[in-house]
Amino acid sequence: MDSQNNKKNNRDSASHDRQKAKDVRLSNISASKAVADAVRTSLGPRGLDKMVQEEAGDVLISNDGATILSKMRVEHPAAKMLVDLSKAQDIEAGDGTTTVVVIAGSLLSACLTLLGKGIHPSLISDAFQYAVEKAEEILEKAAQPIDLNDRTAVIQAAATALSSKVVSQHATLLAPIAVDAVTRIANLEEPDTIDLRNIRVLKKLGGTLDDTELFEGLVLNQHVNKSAGGVTKVAGAKVALIQFCLSAPKTDIENNIIVQDYSAMDRVLREERQYILNLCKKIKNTGCNVLLIQKSILRDATSDLSLHYLAKMKIMVVQDIEREEIEFIAKSLQCVPIAGIDSFVPEKLAKVDLVEEVTVGTEKMVKMSGIQGKHKTVSIIARGSNKLMLDEAERSLHDAFCVVRSLFRRRFLIAGGGAAETEVAVGLNKVAKTMEGASAFCVRAFADALEVIPYTLAENAGLPSIEIVTELRNRHVQGDTNAGINVKKGNISNMFEESVVMPLLVTVSALRLATECVRMILKIDDIVMTR
Ligand code: ADP
Ligand code: MG
Repeated sequence: MDSQNNKKNNRDSASHDRQKAKDVRLSNISASKAVADAVRTSLGPRGLDKMVQEEAGDVLISNDGATILSKMRVEHPAAKMLVDLSKAQDIEAGDGTTTVVVIAGSLLSACLTLLGKGIHPSLISDAFQYAVEKAEEILEKAAQPIDLNDRTAVIQAAATALSSKVVSQHATLLAPIAVDAVTRIANLEEPDTIDLRNIRVLKKLGGTLDDTELFEGLVLNQHVNKSAGGVTKVAGAKVALIQFCLSAPKTDIENNIIVQDYSAMDRVLREERQYILNLCKKIKNTGCNVLLIQKSILRDATSDLSLHYLAKMKIMVVQDIEREEIEFIAKSLQCVPIAGIDSFVPEKLAKVDLVEEVTVGTEKMVKMSGIQGKHKTVSIIARGSNKLMLDEAERSLHDAFCVVRSLFRRRFLIAGGGAAETEVAVGLNKVAKTMEGASAFCVRAFADALEVIPYTLAENAGLPSIEIVTELRNRHVQGDTNAGINVKKGNISNMFEESVVMPLLVTVSALRLATECVRMILKIDDIVMTR
């Protein structure tokens, strides 16, 4: 009797476990899908933008999936995986951050159907892995190689990335800027070493985005200190970047010097003057004529006295250089920051043809051109009528840089506008026909899930999505590999002719990362809370 009861209990608990695993899986999937649905409407050139209000009250307008998701307060652990997914795509490819999440959401829906049919999660997961490998092969076959000297092709890819942004109407101006900027810092032999931090975007309010310019050289956000009437233009400059102060040393906190009589006070002042004069003379003797001074929190970087001497010696002074800027400036000028007067030697100076103060809008900036040696950085001065626009322009430029970098890393272009995804869907359906059993079913579900991209692009553009996607599929079945949705004209056409192209790397990485994430969510059967 007892053993019978035990058996029954065991059976009960096993079925209870299975039910729980099912519940956990379903809750994970629906939470993740909710995240995907939230960004779906911003996909594509006709996608809508999101306004994000941050806790501190700051407002931000963006169309970039990674940006929107990173600001979302997501509690569910599985949903957080989708946020990380878009971050991963941002790091790997830089563009396609909405696409990757939308694809993952659609794959998760497919999983729901497959699970509902009683297919085991491991089987689904394996079939998806097989499908994504096949998908990559199909994409590689559809991609077209590009010659990096063909500047127009690269610009088209950058323009496509920009066309789905808030700043899309300025794509024709911003795309060449992005291409030139990356080309300048890139070493084509080693495309994996491209460091986008070598491009600095300075945002200046005023004007419009059309006034944005690329500057080959270094631009400083600071102005020249003219309080003692110093120079504002130096030709044949020798620039020093210093991290120490040109003012009288201060006593330690809570220490005082009490001066009792006038002669002692005179002596203090004289000593101070001598000290400062010595510093300035030493600087002058090295041949330095432009001085960049790091901001100090301990004391004033300069004093009236030092500014006066420096002005007399015709040394230009730019102060308030932020700690974070030092690395970039040193790299741009190819000089070493100088930490103290003792290490101030002529070898540490950077030679620059021209340093001058310019007025941009209502503000002043310092431009340095003709930096000697092979410079490895560029600056972009972005202009815009309001801060929201400028911030979004900076983010969009980043996407464009990433697209160019992706092309340098993998020199293939693929058709956009849903063409690539449809091509894969059609190809995978063919693959599924050669397979049997539940796996074939899963591969077919994977293929159909990818159609979410053309479907969403059409839907966001207000086009009849079912008709368009059906026609698109037919065109691909007939072998029209590059047919995609031209959302601006509302018809289907050859995307290479319409110049809607994307780097192969962006699409491949989106597919790969989305599949990996979905497989991971699928395999979770329990959430364990820790105390
Ligand atoms: P993501 O953050 O994933 O890059 P986007 O909002 O930038 O998302 O949209 C990218 C999608 O929009 C890609 O699938 C791309 O092919 C498509 N797309 C971009 N420009 C066009 C266009 N002019 N016509 C049709 N589709 C376009
Ligand atoms: Mg994009």
